[in-house]
Amino acid sequence: MSSRNNPNRIKIHRSYTVIEVSETLGVHPKTVRNWIRAGLPVIDETRPLLIQGADLKLYLKQKRKTYLHRCELNEMYCCKCKDPKVPSINSVEFIAKPAGMAHMTGRCNECGCRSNKYVSWRDVNQIWTALGGKLPIAEKHLILRGLKPLNYPLSKVFNDEK
Ligand SMILES: [Zn+2]
Repeated sequence: MSSRNNPNRIKIHRSYTVIEVSETLGVHPKTVRNWIRAGLPVIDETRPLLIQGADLKLYLKQKRKTYLHRCELNEMYCCKCKDPKVPSINSVEFIAKPAGMAHMTGRCNECGCRSNKYVSWRDVNQIWTALGGKLPIAEKHLILRGLKPLNYPLSKVFNDEK
């Protein structure tokens, strides 16, 4: 993998336009637009499109990990175990992001280390049941922050475990 495409060049406390990302990382703007289409979150309703440095960094790190270590849908790469691991179900949270994506976070079942990855809301129910969870997912595992997840049957969620 190219050494120029390096997440360490990204500052987490600023936001970037597509062109700035392309210049900082030395990749084509088209590549950046493809990342957005593939789930890189953008800041809602701004023109030009802005990308949070923190989101970009996480996205690139995850991309690199997925490239190196194939994770199952319900697994996350654990930095400490250096392997894809299933998170403990009680620690798992799905945080809403724009464009139908969710930021999944949870603690490794074996070492307790926290991992993150981006998933599509479409896959959230499937991930949850693969972890041994029952549907609907309790509200405490979903962090929506005013965002309405796309492709997700919300009415089924909020009747449970208030
Ligand atoms: Zn671990």
